[in-house]
Amino acid sequence: MENTAQSTPVAEHQHTKFCKRCGTKILEEAVICPSCGCQVEEIKHTEQPSIVINNANTNTNANVNANAAAFGVRLRNKWVAFFLCLFLGFFGAHKFYEGKAGTGILYLFTAGLFGIGWFIDCINLLCKPNPYYVR
Ligand SMILES: [Zn+2]
Repeated sequence: MENTAQSTPVAEHQHTKFCKRCGTKILEEAVICPSCGCQVEEIKHTEQPSIVINNANTNTNANVNANAAAFGVRLRNKWVAFFLCLFLGFFGAHKFYEGKAGTGILYLFTAGLFGIGWFIDCINLLCKPNPYYVR
């Protein structure tokens, strides 16, 4: 008799696998075995798209950070830079703080570009957001 054909709930031409519990041939994408009712696969197919989107977001964030680092952009505290400029600006202290050693040395030897650079920098630093980016 053809009882074996009736006991297998899946047609031959479909992609099949065997239940880990009872060994029944079931559909490959089946999560629950129709024969014993046990979960045979992790239920994650529906969650995968959102995970992919999250990964894409973190990747773009990482790229932005990498770009910022590649262009030498630094984050500095406005008030530290401002008070360095106010009290030690003639020595270029705020320029060294921003990582601009070349300009700092120039300020050091010209007394903050004869006071003009120092004055402009004090005003500029006051107008910056906190923290601010140094390019
Ligand atoms: Zn089963």
